Amino acid sequence: MKLRSMTAIALALVAVMSASAGFDNDFSGATLRVDYYHTGTASAEHLALDRVRVEGPWPGSRTQLIDTTNLGRYLVEVVDLDSNRLLYTRGFCSIYGEWETTGEAQEGTWRAIPEAVRVPEPRRPFQLRIRKRDRQQSFREIWSISIDPASRFVDRAPVPSGDVWAVMEHGDPSVKVDLVVLGDGYTAKEMDKFRADVERIVGALLAIEPFASHKQDFNVRAVNTLAEHSGISRPRAGVFRNTPLGTRYNAFDLERYVLTFDDRAWRDAASAAPYDFALILVNEREYGGGGIHNLYAITAAGSPSAPCLVAHEFGHHFAGLADEYYTGSVAYQDLPGGKVEPWEPNVTALLDPTKLKWRDLVLPDTPLPTPWNKAAFEKRSWESQGRRKASQAEEVPEQAADAARRERRERLIELLGKNEYADKVGVFEGAMYVAKGLYRPGVDCLMFEMTEARFCPVCRRAIERIIDLYTR
Ligand SMILES: [Zn+2]
Repeated sequence: MKLRSMTAIALALVAVMSASAGFDNDFSGATLRVDYYHTGTASAEHLALDRVRVEGPWPGSRTQLIDTTNLGRYLVEVVDLDSNRLLYTRGFCSIYGEWETTGEAQEGTWRAIPEAVRVPEPRRPFQLRIRKRDRQQSFREIWSISIDPASRFVDRAPVPSGDVWAVMEHGDPSVKVDLVVLGDGYTAKEMDKFRADVERIVGALLAIEPFASHKQDFNVRAVNTLAEHSGISRPRAGVFRNTPLGTRYNAFDLERYVLTFDDRAWRDAASAAPYDFALILVNEREYGGGGIHNLYAITAAGSPSAPCLVAHEFGHHFAGLADEYYTGSVAYQDLPGGKVEPWEPNVTALLDPTKLKWRDLVLPDTPLPTPWNKAAFEKRSWESQGRRKASQAEEVPEQAADAARRERRERLIELLGKNEYADKVGVFEGAMYVAKGLYRPGVDCLMFEMTEARFCPVCRRAIERIIDLYTR
């Protein structure tokens, strides 16, 4: 028995060693960042190279180079030019992917949005391909370029040194999830506040399962960036600021959506630390945030809802989780119907219940679709949204809005808790901005109404899968 387990360990070691030898054979060990512009309308799409630059050591896994998660609207592929061998792939989402579904894009307005992909730097000339899902969810190539890493067109200037500090370090970046935390709208005098915000919000995020059980799998580092003025732009309120990372409220003219379109700015700041994932805290009290798979998550650090909000946005960013809510306001007009199975791990069109992607988590006596008090929930939800719209017109102070949010949350906990299958995994109709034809796995979840700081079991499993992708 003992001999057998020792043989198993030896075999596992050989496997890891040969995998990492494979990595060293194909890759230099550095990170290559390819900056490009993603341009178009809802019906035309072009990508154009901006620049290629070398960043610090590759922080990702050296053994799990091919992405088997099937997440994201886009997929980047690195292919060796000589042998046509696929060396690296990763799924991702982008701001462009959201923008092309807005009314502005559908009316034919052109827009160029800067984006980047980061890959381990190949030793030899390679082809970089970007694929995008078609209506049937299959990936089709939309762009490819050849890059010779030895070329003088690859920028090898040292990355900005940055004022980096460790929040927690648990080991070698190649076997840990490396999270970088950036701040926007913090002045030099507010660096202590930034530090306290980072510790409080990262602490809240990593207290939620499944992160809590996997704390040892994370390295978290923060980078100080100094703003001239406190706070960020809030166009709807007529407030505009120049901030180091370019974050702003009202992305796509939505009240609470915070993004930065200044891709170079935040990536340059982030490159001071090894990172697989990025969290940007904005120095604001007003409720708001955003999260895009394999891009970044953003949260207003001063909002009383920040602990739930950070987990929700990080769920989008980290595991490609879909919004499970459907009664809020969104800018997207090209809403998913129920005709194609979404790629997101926590929403289903239930086209074939026998192939339900979370079938193994559903108890045999749980009906599919699963009954819940949908009508009562919708009535309550529309009522409170009507009240919120009215209060926006009156410019109710943020404090009163927080109190209303808290009260709404408590009433929702009571209402949703009344369901027979409240704590069971099932298939509950209403998800991803549509009331009919799309289903979510639980009555409540952090990706649904954020009433409690808890992910449903399907979202928890999706998160664990990503932790696994970066820690072996
Ligand atoms: Zn969920």
